[in-house]
Amino acid sequence: MSAFDLIVIGGGSGGLAAAQRAAEYGAKVALLESHRLGGTCVNVGCVPKKVMWYAADLAEGLREAGGYGFALTSDAHDWRLLKDKRDAYIERLNGIYAANLATRGVTLIRARAAFADRSTVIAGAERLSAPHIIIATGGRAVLPGIPGAAQGITSDGFFELSVRPRRVAVIGSGYIAVELAGIFASLGSSVALVLRTGSALKQFDAMLGDSMLKILAEAGVAIHQQAVPAALEGEPHELTLLTRDGRRFGPFDCVLWAVGRASAVADLNLPAAGVACDAEGFIQTDRYQVTSAAGIYAIGDVTGRAQLTPVAIAAGRRLSDRLFGGQPDRYLDYHNIPTVVFGHPPIGTVGLTEQAARENYGDSNVAVFKSSFVPMYHAMTDHKPRCDMKLVTVGPERRVVGVHVIGPGADEMMQGFAVAVRMGATKADFDDTVAIHPTSAEELVTMR
Ligand SMILES: Cc1cc2nc3c(=O)[nH]c(=O)nc-3n(C[C@H](O)[C@H](O)[C@H](O)COP(=O)(O)OP(=O)(O)OC[C@H]3O[C@@H](n4cnc5c(N)ncnc54)[C@H](O)[C@@H]3O)c2cc1C
Repeated sequence: MSAFDLIVIGGGSGGLAAAQRAAEYGAKVALLESHRLGGTCVNVGCVPKKVMWYAADLAEGLREAGGYGFALTSDAHDWRLLKDKRDAYIERLNGIYAANLATRGVTLIRARAAFADRSTVIAGAERLSAPHIIIATGGRAVLPGIPGAAQGITSDGFFELSVRPRRVAVIGSGYIAVELAGIFASLGSSVALVLRTGSALKQFDAMLGDSMLKILAEAGVAIHQQAVPAALEGEPHELTLLTRDGRRFGPFDCVLWAVGRASAVADLNLPAAGVACDAEGFIQTDRYQVTSAAGIYAIGDVTGRAQLTPVAIAAGRRLSDRLFGGQPDRYLDYHNIPTVVFGHPPIGTVGLTEQAARENYGDSNVAVFKSSFVPMYHAMTDHKPRCDMKLVTVGPERRVVGVHVIGPGADEMMQGFAVAVRMGATKADFDDTVAIHPTSAEELVTMR
């Protein structure tokens, strides 16, 4: 049995961050990872997705370049070449993560881990013990339980595609569905986006989902609403989707399910450690990331809360600050987490939706400011998608509790506004800030 101060299960965003921070404080740390270092984000999430988003963004730019006097075409895009370069980039990142662990003296054990009891973990042939164990095993994409579902792929399969499918159905309404549908469409696929309800991006301010669907439809994506999948029929490259109300969509070369993610806890033998999950299978924790078992913590996607890389990293670092860095009150505040949906155009958002603000503060305490305009960039292009912005304020002082933007540049715009919201900025603070001209962002400080 090898003894450590800390065992971290999972070498993704959260696990790596927690392990490295603890080691920096001098803790003896073991990190157990059965797959590739970097987890979902680096291998099948944010990083390869953003590479594809850049490609799609370039394709959009090439299409629009005519408006600026260029005679160009994006017909010659080589998906396979991009995939090979992207895979090589990610392999380099995998290596950098391993080197970072080695530099900090973290023991890396490449094996699937399971609990033997509250302080003991089995990983392959190894038996390890520690007073502190962090579960950072993340999540996995789910397939719906309908006939033929396995003929489709998930986001993991998206990153394995070596050629661009010509006709694609993306099924789902969350940010992953919207992002991947946008990438396929921008790079030239014929795309159907299939929604169970009438809307998309339901966890965001309603303005954002509505605008995104409108922009996708204008870009030629077929939006199928109130379409609940019942079966997937046919052979690969000739797939037909049947819905409960008897509609048939297809044929498609590729059907991509983006219908949710479950926690990756199945192999962990959690009952041996006394770690409880909620009804949906996510590990419950208190504000200090402590599970139902003392000495065992959970961070990141496995907890089901704000499933984003910087959230997993922040939770991991704060936990190690608390356990090994002499900061007993350190914890992650899950309010006001900014995020981006990498669509075309992107969405940037932070804070409360208008609906949540009305529910929390009452209609009479909420004032909303909006702006809708065609960004100056599109003055020269044939395609004229609008940029929509909303500020949600509460109270007589008009404290800004939500900033929501869909439009070019929204992704890079939001980080700074998130600082302002976190600091409690009011509408007057926004108004008193001198605008940067000519930008889209200036609309946020000039709304009346
Ligand atoms: C398509 C897609 C796009 C995304 N885009 C973004 C984005 O743009 N921005 C953003 O912030 N977030 C994005 N995310 C979410 C982000 O990837 C996750 O929030 C983040 O990776 C969570 O980190 P984690 O440490 O909780 O888990 P993960 O990164 O999933 O890491 C968990 C690790 O644990 C390992 N593991 C699991 N079980 C065991 C076991 N029993 N023993 C040993 N190892 C185990 C796994 O192999 C994995 O490496 C995206 C996700 C997807 C799927």
